[in-house]
Amino acid sequence: MMDSNSHTALKMNAYPETKISSTATGGVPQSLLIDLDDTLCENNIYFERAIAQFISFLNHKEMSLEQVREVINHTERESILSHGYGLHSFAHSLVRTFEKLSVEPITPALHETIRGFAHQIADHPLEIITDVPETLAYLAERHHLILMTKGSLTEQSAKIEGSGLKEFFVAVEIVAEKNPAAYRQIVDKYALLPEVTWMIGNSPRSDINPALAAGLHAVFVPHDQTWVLEHEELVPAPSPAQKLLIVKGFAELRSHF
Ligand SMILES: [Mg+2]
Repeated sequence: MMDSNSHTALKMNAYPETKISSTATGGVPQSLLIDLDDTLCENNIYFERAIAQFISFLNHKEMSLEQVREVINHTERESILSHGYGLHSFAHSLVRTFEKLSVEPITPALHETIRGFAHQIADHPLEIITDVPETLAYLAERHHLILMTKGSLTEQSAKIEGSGLKEFFVAVEIVAEKNPAAYRQIVDKYALLPEVTWMIGNSPRSDINPALAAGLHAVFVPHDQTWVLEHEELVPAPSPAQKLLIVKGFAELRSHF
């Protein structure tokens, strides 16, 4: 398990000057904050599978699949406020949805089955997205990479440890929510210069808009299976000096950094 001390113990000068080659900003190494889920490794597809299993198990006689899905989305928003992100919160959402929609009362056995749909996600082997390790290796030689993910500390730490990608990062930050305040905190903690700091990720709501609001640049790496609760319109940066890049895939970062 990671604590804040282990973060500060990581060296920001882990990469010797000699390894840093020229970049778009005239050789200045930049700080790249990089998202984990659905940017570096698959995540939402497993949740979508679990939801599909749950909906077919619920087998609602009057509501359409879309209507049930709406109830799940709404319940997930409520669970995030009370339970945060992660599998425990997701399992809670499925159980709550069942309680709301099923005519039969929930029994301990039903409860276990429904929780099982959620918790099986943890058993799935981690799938790293195409070109990610090679691209991280390239970027890590030139810049300071900080992994920035939100969610359960235990679950995200386990994922990072198992990903084989940790070596590319000078620091790892697991936060409860990615809002402008969280980005400002990271900027302060590592004394980052906003004019050479970027957030890179798949979520307009968590990666792009709040990073721009905090004065950073951003790179949007769209993922066609992004969680519906992460959808949001991209909001223009508050300052014309801030850049927003949109790339087709993670490998394209090599042409910008
Ligand atoms: Mg993500």
